[in-house]
Amino acid sequence: MNTAATAFNPACPDNTSIKVDSPTLTEIPVRQERGERAVFCGLTSIIWLHRKIQDAFFLVVGSRTCAHLIQSAAGVMIFAEPRFATAVLEDKDLAGIADCNDEIDRVVERVLQRRPNIKTFFLVSSCPSEVIKLDLGNSAQRLNKIYQGRVRFADYSGSGIETTFTQGEDNCLKSLVEELPNTESKEKNLIIAGTIADVVEDQFKRIFEQLGVENVSFLPARNEEQMPKVGDNTYVLLAQPYLGETTRSLLKRGAKLIQAPFPFGAEGTLEWLRSVAKVWDIPEDKFESVISIPLARARRALTHYQDKLAGKSITFLPDSQLEIPLARFLSRECEMKLKEVGVPFFDRQIIEAEMNLLPADVTLTEGQSLDDQLDRVREDKPDLTVCGLGIANPLEAEDLRTKWSIELMFTPIQGFDQAGDLAELFARPLIRESRLEC
Ligand code: SF4
Repeated sequence: MNTAATAFNPACPDNTSIKVDSPTLTEIPVRQERGERAVFCGLTSIIWLHRKIQDAFFLVVGSRTCAHLIQSAAGVMIFAEPRFATAVLEDKDLAGIADCNDEIDRVVERVLQRRPNIKTFFLVSSCPSEVIKLDLGNSAQRLNKIYQGRVRFADYSGSGIETTFTQGEDNCLKSLVEELPNTESKEKNLIIAGTIADVVEDQFKRIFEQLGVENVSFLPARNEEQMPKVGDNTYVLLAQPYLGETTRSLLKRGAKLIQAPFPFGAEGTLEWLRSVAKVWDIPEDKFESVISIPLARARRALTHYQDKLAGKSITFLPDSQLEIPLARFLSRECEMKLKEVGVPFFDRQIIEAEMNLLPADVTLTEGQSLDDQLDRVREDKPDLTVCGLGIANPLEAEDLRTKWSIELMFTPIQGFDQAGDLAELFARPLIRESRLEC
């Protein structure tokens, strides 16, 4: 039974006092599926991570396929000198004839000569490097000794052996957590974990300042100097729902997780901020005075899309791990009907506050069996299907409207000021369809 599904109407200004119960174990049944998957690999996350961490370099140790994937996905011209590259494994590397470590050292040296401002250097493993058991952890340790703190080396997996592409970011942030400096301060500090656009980060900083929440830092930060410190008085609030490994690493370092819905939409952002206000003991009247104007703005923006989305049905295929919070947003704030919500996998500790806000009769699927899911999409005929790029075109050819889930990773969607934009992302394919029909 769903215990916290308080009705939320974005058009109603009295909803500032909405209460979300403390997270309780939801009883929504979860169907498990295993079979073929169709998702990008974790290398994809380099595209948004390298834009966010402005003094980091990402060196993929992989094949030409890996190089093509990130080059074409990022759409960056070679002469723009992006802060990522691929060290391509040749036949002699795969056969174990060449010493890959010598090659990696040479490539790293060349990169750092050209880019002396790089402070964090990620060695990213791929399917080919993992198949030949190339240990990039050892390489990172060796390089840390050679460069003696001038550049920090970390390694993580971006391979397609993982379940989905957002795990690339989770693995990357986990590798950062292991190196974060310790703090013994008795003052509370807050880490917002998960890559968010700079513009959204600035909006949240302003709100936290107005609330009087001090010592707020972001993981990842824009540069090495601003990376958070962690200790026993650290609280973690997640801005992205796919950070299970990162969260566990932060908890191991003494931090505490603030469980909250994710900051998607007016309601999600309100409850996300409120969860911090509770931990920081901010009086309710102060909280309401700070958030009332941006909240009203978010609600107003949502009303522009509500009539286009209300009553329309939607299916999520498992792809980005954003599916559950987005389904909550679309069902509660845009009145869409959820046909099926598929998620590659989820971590109850992280997603529980969201699960408690889903309609009790939602069909929730964890894992993927692609053919079976596509059969259900054809049968359900949802007005909109959120899915990966590779599946979207065939579904469009069958006259089903789609939204690429990866678009949600490249668009600022968190926070009050992005609530309308988030609704618009889902309304756009439906508006286009209605125009074509006229
Ligand atoms: S890491 Fe694996 S799945 Fe990703 S591009 Fe390289 S070979 Fe393909």
